[in-house]
Amino acid sequence: MTNLAIQIKGLTKIYPPDNRAVDALDLNIEEGEIMALLGPNGAGKSTTIRAASTLCGFDEGNVIISGFDVDTHSLEVRQSIGVVAQQTGIDYFLTGRENMELQGHLYRMKRADINGRIEELAGYFELRDSIDNLVSSYSGGMRRKLDIACALIHRPKILFLDEPTLGLDIKNRKILWKHIDKLNKEFGLTILLTTHYLEEADNLSHQVAIINNGKVQVVDTPDALKNSIHGDSITVTFDDVGKNEQAFFHYAQQQPYIKGSTWEDNKLHLYVEDGGANVAALMAVAADNDAKITNLSLSRPTLDDVFLKYTGTSILDTKEEEGDEWWEQWAGKGGNTGKWKSQWGEDDSDAEDGGSNEAWKNSDWAKENGHAASAENSDKGNAQSPKPEQKSAWPQGDGAEGKQWNKSQQGDWQNNEWNKNKDGGEK
Ligand code: ADP
Repeated sequence: MTNLAIQIKGLTKIYPPDNRAVDALDLNIEEGEIMALLGPNGAGKSTTIRAASTLCGFDEGNVIISGFDVDTHSLEVRQSIGVVAQQTGIDYFLTGRENMELQGHLYRMKRADINGRIEELAGYFELRDSIDNLVSSYSGGMRRKLDIACALIHRPKILFLDEPTLGLDIKNRKILWKHIDKLNKEFGLTILLTTHYLEEADNLSHQVAIINNGKVQVVDTPDALKNSIHGDSITVTFDDVGKNEQAFFHYAQQQPYIKGSTWEDNKLHLYVEDGGANVAALMAVAADNDAKITNLSLSRPTLDDVFLKYTGTSILDTKEEEGDEWWEQWAGKGGNTGKWKSQWGEDDSDAEDGGSNEAWKNSDWAKENGHAASAENSDKGNAQSPKPEQKSAWPQGDGAEGKQWNKSQQGDWQNNEWNKNKDGGEK
């Protein structure tokens, strides 16, 4: 019998005065499962994640995480989960290591354990070479990996990821998918993620839940959802929907090969048995009614067709809410013309290796604070980062600890629960 990692029953969250952001929502996620929440903007995905991760209260319902009720055992819940929110929690003026140390101390972990864990996670996420560099020199992909590493420092069993790859290019998105998939397969981590990318939900998740108006509309495997749409998908686009086009729709619906239809503005999505064979007949119906078709496409049903069926809108039309660039977050929404961006120039660090970020290194702030580029650290294949010797005010201990990953720490790590999952938890 499988155990439930997350049990949400009747969850209701009302923002004043009467916005039912989440409305009697039910959702069960089994241990070791990856579930993707899909839904238009404002559907209630982030609020669900916030409520389930103790980050906001709610008005009605029950949420049980790893067997603990979030209402009565919020500390145990927090110990069981890692959360990566849309707005990253990492500090750009600390190194990757310092960010992870901070997170570990917040969880009251022992220093030796934190150090061992940083070694482990930096290796796992391929961040070892840059772990002592300031996060401000990281590429978007590296920052996301660090974000996830920070969320895993205390070995949670469940990971919440709110739009983990938002704003990343496809290459970095795929790198992150690989890591997320590996975390689930190797360590049995249960993962609940929200996403706007259908490919992400399709590739990564065991189950997809489509949410609209604060309610779960459907939950199933990606394949079962796609198979629930019968026939092929024909999308017909009109310049304008007048009486001829409406007449075409009327007669098209009466054709025996048409199995379903959805309107989306001036686009008509038709689900057609044996679409290739019947497309000519459908065009004849359009010609008979003088309907002006500007575009027609034929495809196998995708998750977008399922999304459209349950939400009445294509996910491709739901605008991506891009995360603010870090200088915008940090400088209080300075914006693209903001002080920090104009001082440091465009972030050129999109490359997986962190890019060069020359503008940053030559900034007045960097010079004043000892982070400026030098011949030594910019010309030796490590151009992306200021040198790691400048540590922040974070205490360094007495030197006996916090330096090296050693055998006894490795022993600690090997005995931990996460590793037990690894051995016994593969599906
Ligand atoms: P999604 O993540 O699916 O885009 P959200 O959970 O962010 O949806 O939002 C659901 C609804 O709740 C929206 O109508 C949104 O405007 C509203 N909402 C979200 N957060 C707040 C908040 N802190 N205060 C008031 N309303 C909010």
